[in-house]
Amino acid sequence: MTTAARPSAPAVAVRGLAHRYASGAGDVVALDGVDLHVEAGEFVSIVGPSGCGKTTLLRAVAGLLAPSEGSVAVFGGTPEAAQTAHALGLVSQDPGLLPWRSVEANVRLALELTGVTTDVPGLLARVGIAAFARHRPGELSGGMRQRVALARAIAHGPRLLLMDEPFGALDELSREVIRLELVRLWERDRPAVLFVTHAIREAVMLSDRVVVMSGLPGRMLDEIAIDLPRPRIESIESTAPFAALVDRVRAALRAGAHGDARGGV
Ligand code: ADP
Ligand code: MG
Repeated sequence: MTTAARPSAPAVAVRGLAHRYASGAGDVVALDGVDLHVEAGEFVSIVGPSGCGKTTLLRAVAGLLAPSEGSVAVFGGTPEAAQTAHALGLVSQDPGLLPWRSVEANVRLALELTGVTTDVPGLLARVGIAAFARHRPGELSGGMRQRVALARAIAHGPRLLLMDEPFGALDELSREVIRLELVRLWERDRPAVLFVTHAIREAVMLSDRVVVMSGLPGRMLDEIAIDLPRPRIESIESTAPFAALVDRVRAALRAGAHGDARGGV
């Protein structure tokens, strides 16, 4: 058994993470003293102001960036080991598809790189793009392209899915549809998910837990358990408990924006 395959280990364990970027105008401290835990099968969202270090944090968890300080464990091993064991899937804001390859060929390429085989038509159907298998990315809407990126990220059956504002560029309606589909996919397969978003309602709708970050340097301000029933359905968004949770997340964000995690607005 490799260090990346301990079933009892948390999906993500980040301790004392700090990161500094060197730049001409002086160092930028993007993250400072960040601790974060995601259990196997848990859906955790991170919300925080723009530029607070969310992408930096996700890249550190993915093993794409070596943090200045602190440690990152993924299923008890290094992010690289998790990557090698095909335990990680990543979706970023830009779908990053190869424009000259069809939808199906984009997904197949990702699979070839991992050596995992799967039912590609079935996978495309699960993310609602079966009818577009032969299309090129340029022929699709932004929402459809993000579905392709999602299919590519889950094709090898990762146990941890990292999503960096994946729906940020979509219109509100596409966003609502794709959000519900993500809930359904997650409720079926139950990978751990670390999901970065600006959208508070989206975070509440999707998550088991919402982590609120402060402005630069990014620190963890608060953590709100989303104890809404599952399976989540669209109408949950118009319930009082949903509204109360949205208010709590918003209040935590405001407190952070005012530089005081304890005080009100
Ligand atoms: P977020 O995803 O929350 O918007 P980022 O993690 O992208 O934030 O960035 C955090 C901070 O680090 C920002 O202030 C950003 O300008 C800075 N930053 C990000 N990448 C670099 C880089 N390669 N060089 C210098 N500064 C960077
Ligand atoms: Mg970002």
